[in-house]
Formats: sequence, C-alpha cells, structure tokens
Amino acid sequence: MTSAFSIDCDVHPTVPKMAALLPYLPDMWRDTVVRRGVEELVTISYPTTNPLSFRADWRDETGKAGTSVEKLAAEALDPFGSRFAILNCLYGVQALFSEDMGAAFAQALNDWIVQEWLDRDPRLRASIVVPTQNPERAVDEINRCAADKRFVQVLLLVGGEIPLGRRQNWPIFAAAQKHGLPIGIHAGSTYRHPVTPVGWPTYYTEDYVNQAPGFQSQLTNLMSEGVFAKFPDLTVVLMESGVSWLPAYLWRLTKFWKGLRSEIPWVSDPPASIVRDRVRLTLQPFDGPPDEGGIMRLMEHFGSDEMLLFSTDYPHWQFEGQGAMPEGFDPALTRKIMAENPLRTYPRLNETAAQAAMGRP
Ligand code: ZN
Repeated sequence: MTSAFSIDCDVHPTVPKMAALLPYLPDMWRDTVVRRGVEELVTISYPTTNPLSFRADWRDETGKAGTSVEKLAAEALDPFGSRFAILNCLYGVQALFSEDMGAAFAQALNDWIVQEWLDRDPRLRASIVVPTQNPERAVDEINRCAADKRFVQVLLLVGGEIPLGRRQNWPIFAAAQKHGLPIGIHAGSTYRHPVTPVGWPTYYTEDYVNQAPGFQSQLTNLMSEGVFAKFPDLTVVLMESGVSWLPAYLWRLTKFWKGLRSEIPWVSDPPASIVRDRVRLTLQPFDGPPDEGGIMRLMEHFGSDEMLLFSTDYPHWQFEGQGAMPEGFDPALTRKIMAENPLRTYPRLNETAAQAAMGRP
C-alpha cells in the first residue's frame, strides 16, 4: 500500500439469515415471512457456495462471509488500512414483485445496517437500499435515510425492470441530488429480463461476463434520456462493473452521438467528456492488463485519472492475497484511486479525512 490510507468504495455485508431482519420488519411483514416460510431473499444466479461469492478463508461456519462487523473489520478494514468503507448490501430486495414488500424489506435492511454495522464501527458508511419497484417509495426511503449522514450513496442494480434513465425514475435522481448522494449502480439483476441482450444464457460465467455490457446499456440510456443534463450535480458510480471496457465504449458512444445528436439535443457535450466528469468506477474486479505499461496505456485511454475508486469488493474474491490494488499504477495515481478520488466523489465523507489525504495536518 503506497497511500496513507484507503477508502474502500465497495464492500458487502451479508445478512446471516432471515431471522436477523425480523426485528426490523413491521408486524405484518414479520408475520408474512413466518407464515409463508420465507427463508432467504437471494437470487439463484449467485449461490453463496460459488468460489467467487466468498473467499474461502473468510467463510464462517455457515459457509457465508461478511456476516458480522467484527469479521468485516478484521478481514477488510484492518488489512487494507481503510479509513472508510462503503457497505453495499445485496439482498434481493429489488427482485421482489410486491411493491409493499420491497419497501418494507428496504426499510428493514437499512435499519439493520444502521444498528448492526454503522453504529458498531466508526469507519463504516453505507448506500441506501431502495425499493426500485416503486420510485415514490424509493424516494421516501432516500429521504428517510438521508438524515443520517453515514448514508453516502443510493444503491441501484444494473439489471432492473426498465432502463434506469427512464423518466419515471427521475424522482430517485432528484432526491439523490438534493441530498448530495451519488447514484451507485452495482452489478446484479432482478432477472425480469435475460442478463444478455440475446437471450437467457446457460452458465454462471456468461451471467458474470455480461454484467459489463449491461453497464454500457445503462450508461447509454442515462446519457440519452438526459439524466446528466437534468441533474447537473449528480454523480454516478459504477460498481463491480470492470473498467477496461470503458474507453472503447466511449469512442463508440461519442462517434454515434456525432451523427445522431439532433435527436438528443440535451447531450450538448461529447458523451466521453460528460462521462469523465460525472461517472466513476470501483476498481475490483479489475479486468485491465497485468503489466505497468499496459495499465498506464489504459489510463491514457481513460483520459482522466479521477475516475477510478479503490474497492476490495469484500467478501467476493477477485485478486491474489491482499492485492486489491493492482500493481502497475504509479504512486501518484495509486494515491488518487485509494483516497483522493473517493473523497471527491462522496461529499459526505468528512473534512478531516479529506485534509489527511491531501497531506495537510
Ligand atoms: Zn461489489
């Protein structure tokens, strides 16, 4: 580690079992869970037994990992020297078909995060889980949670029912912008549609690889619908999306914008420059070249050294040993990725940390 400290922009607390959430659910939904025998809200495509789901030596006796604040602190915060870590809880809330049930579980999950995680380690921050089934309920949840400054972002999944930039989702963006919260789009799907644009794939490998094209589709949609123009102070963070696809994608998007910009006149600047200003990407799983020369050429193609944000993606495991920060980034860029870029991206991370990262007393 060449940075004084790091800010981990993507870690995943794991709900150990449904019973952990029951105290945070309203009576009606607690009774419903018991009556229906609901055991877990998980998607079948990311089974916890998959090696990519949890690093082997981080699993507890149940086979899961990241199930307690003590384990997360010992395995992710301390080893990587994280001053802050942003919790992104993926628990299938968005996949529920009932809008009311989705809203109840989002609220329970956020309250569980506050009491079981944020209140128990001062280094932890979190993204707000929202019931995307209903944008009005999502806005209510953003407004409710935003009063707690430890919530630093709004969490959405890359694969949902409709493209994220569609106008009916704009109240979510308005609420996020009002509270100074970036929109964090994480890999994952509600499986309303195939994860590929050509139909349902067969293998987990296909599902995982096809997350990155999904991010391209969402970014194109956010751009074309005018989200970046309508919400000038909104930052979008792409999480667990890979990074190496971005330059070629931006060349393509900008090329076709040149020919078709008359139909989307609100995109008044080249899309590549808008993305460089407004979009950030978490680092892991890093899919760039392994050597220093290759990495620095990739960064030249990015055209910006402010876009990448350090992440471990704990307890998922995408790197060797403790090597969450790939070799090959020069020391100045490493420092930006690990601390300075996250601090600029998330206004709610405190001033003291900002001063420390900039080398000021
Ligand atoms: Zn992640």
